[in-house]
Amino acid sequence: MDHFAYKSGVLHAEEVPLTRIAESVGTPFYVYSSATLEHHYRVFSEAFVGQNAHVCFAVKTNGNKAVLALLARLGAGADVVSGGEMRQAIAAGIPAKRIVFSGVGKTRDELTAALAAGIAQINVESEPELRALSEFAASMGTLAPVALRVNPDVAADTHEKITTGRKENKFGIDIDQAPALFRLARTLPGIDLKGVAVHIGSQILDLEPFRQAFARLRELVLALRAEGINLERVDLGGGLGVPYHRDDPTSPPPDAYAALTREAFGDLGVRLILEPGRLIAGNAGMLVSRVVYVKEGASRNFLILDSGFNDLIRPAFYEAFHEILPVNLPAPDAPREPIDVVGPICESSDIFARQRLLPPIAPGELVAFATAGAYGAVMASTYNGRPLVPEVLVRGARFDVVRRRPTPAEMAALETVPDWLKNPAS
Ligand SMILES: *Cc1c(COP(=O)(O)O)cnc(C)c1O
Repeated sequence: MDHFAYKSGVLHAEEVPLTRIAESVGTPFYVYSSATLEHHYRVFSEAFVGQNAHVCFAVKTNGNKAVLALLARLGAGADVVSGGEMRQAIAAGIPAKRIVFSGVGKTRDELTAALAAGIAQINVESEPELRALSEFAASMGTLAPVALRVNPDVAADTHEKITTGRKENKFGIDIDQAPALFRLARTLPGIDLKGVAVHIGSQILDLEPFRQAFARLRELVLALRAEGINLERVDLGGGLGVPYHRDDPTSPPPDAYAALTREAFGDLGVRLILEPGRLIAGNAGMLVSRVVYVKEGASRNFLILDSGFNDLIRPAFYEAFHEILPVNLPAPDAPREPIDVVGPICESSDIFARQRLLPPIAPGELVAFATAGAYGAVMASTYNGRPLVPEVLVRGARFDVVRRRPTPAEMAALETVPDWLKNPAS
């Protein structure tokens, strides 16, 4: 459920027509609905009432400072995967004691910054990382609060580029090798062993892989307990899928997911950490773009937009589907014809949709990509010399630019031409 709807024939975010934002900000732009973010956060966190669960929003899905500040106000913590994301979360008002740090390749600088900030938990993904972290913490005279991320070897039925919990994935510690690493962790001077973590993948629409992973995790917690290693926290990662098709809004309800966590961990007396990302932000955002040309080719027609895969990479990267909505509501009897929706980038993969059935949309008109609030703006680049796409946050009848488009001068400012090139004589 989201707060994007047609009113008086124009697609609105809450009470704001997207045409009004386009006039003010220019296109393309991302627009987020604060009511939708709040709604998703509340529905998810309320599903866990009574389970001693702590919700840490996955910042990699949407790191905009205003989005993080909104979630911080609701009590969210953060799951970060780099020192940069940790700084973004802290700057947005999420205290370090509510931040969990995940990722396979954390550097010394990142780990020491996290320790200095007083981070809640570092999810360690390998023995070398565990040893390095212990050394850094000990040299700082502190203890690192650690969970070991295990790889439960379950197949999440999702795109191969977003599955993470199989043996062959780079993530986590093989669950069979994990007990030895827990034993080691207890002996290392800089480690304060707090728990175990998993994250099996993303956009998972079937609860069964979660059930399997949780059952394996439960077994591990109990086996460790039997040898005197008591874990107080179980971090379950994120991964719950969202509906990308507006006419087929099927995705597992948070209640059903919460029933699984209760079943697996309810009697263990542990604190749960949950790291939803897409579920909170996905349907809370759209990318709005303008049609530049309609090109009639020999075998097919093309809707050429002013946004490209540098602005929204999911279709090119993961073959992802995004609903494409004309901002002006078409007449109910408008014919729907197949058309390829493409961007301006000089790459053949810059295609948002092939042979999508759309009503006639004229040059100059606006279209909106739905479900673009997660893994959208955060993955944008400046490829083809294009400015990073701005972001707008709507609240009721108001909207604010929460990340502005950089100026050409700002884009050029980081680059320099060395003197030897400026002066041919030297
Ligand atoms: C990406 C990621 C998440 C969020 O995943 P979603 O599918 O967006 O919910 C949570 N935890 C970790 C460790 C991640 O890498």
